[in-house]
Amino acid sequence: MVSNIRGGETGNIQAFKQTEVSRVCQGRVHATIADRRELAKTALTPGELIDTSIHLDESTEPVTGQDMFALTEICHDGFIELDVRDIARMLQARPGDETESLFACADRIRKRFVGDSVHIRGIIEFSNYCVRNCLYCGLRRDNHKLSRYRMTPDEILTASQNGIQSGYRTIVLQSGEDPYYSAQDIALIVEGIKSFRDVAVTLSIGERARSEYAAMRSAGADRFLLKHETADAKLYQQLHPGASLKTRVECLQNLKSLGFQVGSGFIVGLPGQDISTIAEDIALLKLLDCDMAGIGPFIPHPDTPLASYPAGDVTMTLKALAVARQALPYANFPVTTALSTLRQDGRQLALSCGGNVIMPNITPAKYRALYEIYPDSASLKDPEDGGIREIAGMLKAIGREVSTTKGDTLPKERRSIPTVDSNNHERMR
Ligand code: SAM
Ligand code: SF4
Repeated sequence: MVSNIRGGETGNIQAFKQTEVSRVCQGRVHATIADRRELAKTALTPGELIDTSIHLDESTEPVTGQDMFALTEICHDGFIELDVRDIARMLQARPGDETESLFACADRIRKRFVGDSVHIRGIIEFSNYCVRNCLYCGLRRDNHKLSRYRMTPDEILTASQNGIQSGYRTIVLQSGEDPYYSAQDIALIVEGIKSFRDVAVTLSIGERARSEYAAMRSAGADRFLLKHETADAKLYQQLHPGASLKTRVECLQNLKSLGFQVGSGFIVGLPGQDISTIAEDIALLKLLDCDMAGIGPFIPHPDTPLASYPAGDVTMTLKALAVARQALPYANFPVTTALSTLRQDGRQLALSCGGNVIMPNITPAKYRALYEIYPDSASLKDPEDGGIREIAGMLKAIGREVSTTKGDTLPKERRSIPTVDSNNHERMR
């Protein structure tokens, strides 16, 4: 189904999504709010999933807090089937009851499908050189005010080893799009990290040819983060000179077909974006069958063309996360650094709205301030080891725990419908 995107022109993505939406809607019951209330009452427990798929009728009255529960708890074949209209309605949850119930529902689904453990991944930002010119990013090629740095392979390996000794079971290597490092260079670094211990390696280094991704995968790289940034093809082109959403999606499909666990994601509050764009962003995550997704607010950088635009809205970011958790219940959702930059309690907030991953910064101190995607990043405050012990304490205080596993996404073939027993403990059917 996703392969339909591959051959199409950029504009076809919109058309394709509409076709997909109609397919998903086929056979659904178009229920009124009253019908939904009645159906919701038939659920055995408040969290019970019932084997009925219903879809909000456009002509019905606005949703209430109570109704929001009904909508989000009801699914098809035990899995939540939200289409782009459901998603848009949920994103419009009003302050108060509606939004609270949306967040509470996402939290229950997170607990039910991926549990209380939080995966901690140490991120090393190894180069701030970038050949791209994304309008929102401080690392863009045309920002000549930024001092550039590149870590040597030895420096990257030492930082990774320190991270592993501190307790990280996943090392994330991130950079601007920097062809200085060949696929072979990256492959050797991945092999070096893997030789220290059985840890997962995630790459976040931008767009490359399929053959290059293949070499990195063969060297043992497990995961790849490449946000689609915005699912609006026209907006994508405006914000990314010389690039296209079609190519971005092709890269994500290539990564998936090579066996990477694939993370996409998007920015909330980009100039030119509206609620329907965010709904399409979440629908695209689902279409791509993402294993992970980073959803963070836009933060203006003074040395970019978007310097004068306001930052993205924190509540809308949390709503997008909460809806995405319900659309992709098995996925891993990191707390984004951008959210923690706008709100000191960003980690706790995101963890209560569907988040289950934290990515502390373990880049050597001398480079950190130079990786300035946006100013005053919260990651500048992370201690040299990323603060893994402090995070464990914070998680304990909110009834969560540090995961003892590498935190891979559950493979599709092993997914089943988690049930809730009488003690409200999670178990797999
Ligand atoms: N260069 C790689 C790429 O673009 O995939 C990885 C590094 S890039 C700095 C990581 C992420 O930073 C991007 O996916 C983008 O979503 C985010 N980002 C960049 N500028 C931002 C800004 N001003 N506000 C919020 N997020 C931003
Ligand atoms: Fe480069 Fe990534 Fe920033 Fe775009 S978002 S300018 S590709 S570092």
